[in-house]
Amino acid sequence: MELNKIIIGTMRLPNRETAVQLIRKAIDYGFNYLDTAPLYRLQSATENSEAWVGEALKAGDYRERALVSIKCGTGNGGMKVGEKFEQEKGFGVRTAEDFAKVFQQSLDRLGLSQVDYYHLWVCHTMEQYEEAFKPGGWYEGFLKEKAAGRVRHLGITTHADSNTIINYLKSGHFETVTLPLNITNLTRMEAVKYASEHGIKVIAMNPLGGGFLASNERLKELALRYLMALDNVHLLIGFTSEAEVDYAKWIEETSRQNPMSPEAILEEANQIIGSSEPRCTGCGYCLPCPQKLEVGGILGYYNLYKFLNIESAKNQFNEIQWDVRYKLKNCTSCGLCESRCPNQLPVRQILKHAREILY
Ligand code: SF4
Ligand code: SF4
Repeated sequence: MELNKIIIGTMRLPNRETAVQLIRKAIDYGFNYLDTAPLYRLQSATENSEAWVGEALKAGDYRERALVSIKCGTGNGGMKVGEKFEQEKGFGVRTAEDFAKVFQQSLDRLGLSQVDYYHLWVCHTMEQYEEAFKPGGWYEGFLKEKAAGRVRHLGITTHADSNTIINYLKSGHFETVTLPLNITNLTRMEAVKYASEHGIKVIAMNPLGGGFLASNERLKELALRYLMALDNVHLLIGFTSEAEVDYAKWIEETSRQNPMSPEAILEEANQIIGSSEPRCTGCGYCLPCPQKLEVGGILGYYNLYKFLNIESAKNQFNEIQWDVRYKLKNCTSCGLCESRCPNQLPVRQILKHAREILY
């Protein structure tokens, strides 16, 4: 079964009843891939995203019409390798035995005997990646399940920078890569290009910038249509209501009937953001930063807050200060990023202003 352009994220499902209805509606629309994880909407062993997905797939032939993807990782959800094994959440999975336990837990919650995809999850650093591939580790656990016919494909889910992602993909292990991608965060386009050239499907998470881009109707439409216009990119939308599923179907149809080029979409989106002040495009060419800062990602939040007056961008930025890549306070103003910026932006000055208004 070929992956549809729009696919189903289950991280934001509101409750069991709505989840079941909206998942079935989405599958009826042809959105034929479900991404879930042990931690998503985890309230108890029986009330969580995996269990709700499982219930949605019980009726009729929904299971036959949808690909199911689950995941767990060696990390702790952040930048470190997990110090302890957290089976319920799927974190700190560092041995093949741990993998088997989390894998079985997911199958039990889903009520399935096999799934289609498995992702190495929260793999943000090379250290977390290498932990997965050590002898007796995560990957050996995956291979055992694959040999037993309980899973077919391997993917990776990551927030790492483009170069690190390309290094993951060069291993040849992965058939899909799930990464953050939207019109205000294009820092990983090199990785998208590499994946496309090597037959690896790209799954774009955060297509609406965690919901920020949805605060303006036309911008929301353009954000989704931009990803629709990119070859080999699939939009992972974390649905919260049936109305959002209907909207996604409308986007799919509108994009087909009235196609726009990615360049035209970006141009119009930039006009809506509406300032002639030079803005970071999130291209990522200024990396690496000696302080490990994700300059384009940080300035994505800055753009939303400063140009669109989206207050939640500021809140979100403050919420991810656990992640060193967004810890703008660590910037030393060394100027390396500025010297590499192809847009010739006064990056140090912008970062200084971002620091003043975002914290
Ligand atoms: S100026 Fe700041 S963000 Fe830019 S490279 Fe130096 S430390 Fe990193
Ligand atoms: S600061 Fe410049 S090089 Fe860095 S991401 Fe933004 S536009 Fe690209």
